[in-house]
Amino acid sequence: MSDNGQRPKNNLIILQRGEPVLAQVANPVTDINSEQIKQLITDLKITVAEAKGVGIAAPQVGESLRLFLMCSAPSERYPDAPLLPISVIINPEIRSTSEQQALGWEGCLSVKGKRALVARYTSIDVSYLDEAGTKHNKTLTNFLARIFQHELDHLDGITFIERLNNENDAIDEQQWRETYLT
Ligand SMILES: [Zn+2]
Repeated sequence: MSDNGQRPKNNLIILQRGEPVLAQVANPVTDINSEQIKQLITDLKITVAEAKGVGIAAPQVGESLRLFLMCSAPSERYPDAPLLPISVIINPEIRSTSEQQALGWEGCLSVKGKRALVARYTSIDVSYLDEAGTKHNKTLTNFLARIFQHELDHLDGITFIERLNNENDAIDEQQWRETYLT
């Protein structure tokens, strides 16, 4: 604990699917420079690193705000992920998409122990604000486009399970590991 009125850095609890906040449409961030948002970004960075995720959205820690982090790096679960610095994505929009979609394996910190093949657009034009409030317009492709679409879904109350034709198309992580990791 600190006695200067600031919260200590936190590894936040990641909520699991079924929590109402994960099914809500999140609110736009109105004051990027507020202490609340700065603290949330700090806490999310710690939390996603501890969880070894490639992304995390504010609703996953109970904050119904349009903010997520992308932190792509190769890992056991995502061996082909590009290594990139962590990105803070605020009030994101997808401005246009490719016609083409591709299937790829996804998991989610809020759907523990499950993986599924999910169809996502292979290329998307996006806009968002970073943590300094600077606006970015970018084209994202492949894995980064996939992370962006997965995390943006969280801001609209959707987990990857809702993207499946059948909930049973999700398989146990252990089964996935044995089948697809050599
Ligand atoms: Zn997720």
